[in-house]
Amino acid sequence: MVGLGRMGSAMARRFHGAGHDLVVWNRDRTKAEALADDTGAAIAASPAAAAKEADVVVTSLADDAALVDVYLGLEGVASGIRPDAIALDTSTVDPATIRQVGASLGAVGARFCDCPVSGSVSTVEAGTLTIMAGGEPEVVAAVEAVLSAIAQKVVRVGDLGSGAACKLAVNGLLHSFNVALSEALVLAERAGVDREAAYEVFASGAAGAPYVHYKRQAFEHPDEVDVAFTLDLAAKDLDLVRALGERVGATLEQAGTTAAIVEAAIASGMGGRDLSAIAVYLRGES
Ligand code: NAP
Repeated sequence: MVGLGRMGSAMARRFHGAGHDLVVWNRDRTKAEALADDTGAAIAASPAAAAKEADVVVTSLADDAALVDVYLGLEGVASGIRPDAIALDTSTVDPATIRQVGASLGAVGARFCDCPVSGSVSTVEAGTLTIMAGGEPEVVAAVEAVLSAIAQKVVRVGDLGSGAACKLAVNGLLHSFNVALSEALVLAERAGVDREAAYEVFASGAAGAPYVHYKRQAFEHPDEVDVAFTLDLAAKDLDLVRALGERVGATLEQAGTTAAIVEAAIASGMGGRDLSAIAVYLRGES
């Protein structure tokens, strides 16, 4: 497991719980040490060293630059992976970067698939992610047993890069929904409706998507919950969504509006806050 941020650490704990032997690497070694203390995982000195030990390499990384560094950089996964091994990436990145990494892994005989995830830290912990996989059918089939530790559903959506494209479509929707949910909550509050009462109605009614349920604590008590997904990462997603839209000729006016609100919240100093803090921003608090 390479990349032990919020999602990667939660995934590694699930893989450990499912009985897999773990070798881990993270740029900030303290996160690897915390995980090793709890699970007995071996800590590798580099992504290449981690990959050398593995039948399946799983990565969870912030963005495209991190993916390129970790796979293709000095002592990257591509320089250590075994020719019979499979790598799978769960990050939210551009499909073009996935294909670039796939070509390099293919050149050393290894196989690769993109497996971005829908859900969040709590969904990983419950093992109920939805994964949209891109790659050869036999490669996706070969990693399903590993993915079953973190996901309740794996949908193969096409060839390499299709998972990443589908993930950007899902996240365009989710980030717009997050802003709409924030606006609706603040509207109800300003009109005199109690926050919990309004949220109960949202959760129980037609708009009560899984997101509304698992973010309930975060929206009702924003100062009492851990950050699950930062607004900085939301802005990254929305940049990728709009860049893909431009390349494929899809109109994305809603994503543009959503991005402007996310960027304004970040400009006010909230980039490290959870994405549900859009409601805090709209209340004029911080
Ligand atoms: P995070 O907590 O910020 O973790 C990011 C990880 O990327 C860390 O391990 C970080 O290492 C590593 N990293 C960043 N730049 C790097 C570089 N140049 N070289 C090597 N490693 C680098 O993010 P997260 O929330 O776990 O998200 C991980 C991925 O999953 C992202 O692509 C995100 O969009 C996606 N995702 C997240 C969620 C969610 O709810 N959080 C849901 C679905 C998808 P350090 O520890 O050294 O900084």
